[in-house]
Amino acid sequence: MAETIDRLGAVVQDYPKPGITFRDLTPVFADGPALRGMVDALLAGYEGQFDFVAGVEARGFLLAAAAAYASERGVITIRKPGKLPRETYTETYDMEYGQNSLELHVEDIPAGSRVLILDDVLATGGTLAAAARLIESAGSSVAGFGVVLELGELGGRAALAGHNVRSLITY
Ligand code: AMP
Repeated sequence: MAETIDRLGAVVQDYPKPGITFRDLTPVFADGPALRGMVDALLAGYEGQFDFVAGVEARGFLLAAAAAYASERGVITIRKPGKLPRETYTETYDMEYGQNSLELHVEDIPAGSRVLILDDVLATGGTLAAAARLIESAGSSVAGFGVVLELGELGGRAALAGHNVRSLITY
């Protein structure tokens, strides 16, 4: 899988800010066998260990919906502020380029559920750590994290210490 992601993925220098090397995975998502391969590889090892798949807006939704379908589980959306219409939990965090908040509907997951959280890229880990806090606020637990691409130097894995983290390629 790593060879395919490396070959198809695009690298954009100085986006969205000077100094950032943006890893654009949209060409990998656009390739049918690659998309299926990524989803299968992210699910491998987590079989039977989760009740829901959560995706982080927006690229995480693509992976989460496909993984939820493949594993016959429900999908949960962890969204940017102001997008969810009912009562939410909110978490604010720092990321590689700026600050952000994420929200989760209070009533989306029954307490005690095990949730697999997916996103495209693990950078500093701030996003996924905030996603984990949202799941835990709801009285549920994180079964593990899955990302397509990990930026190893940014230390995201350390920010998620204590959790299983599966990545398909590390730069
Ligand atoms: P972080 O919270 O620092 O782990 O950032 C992860 C989130 O930001 C993911 O949702 C990514 O989509 C996005 N992101 C951060 N840095 C990059 C990068 N260098 N290339 C592509 N996406 C990135």
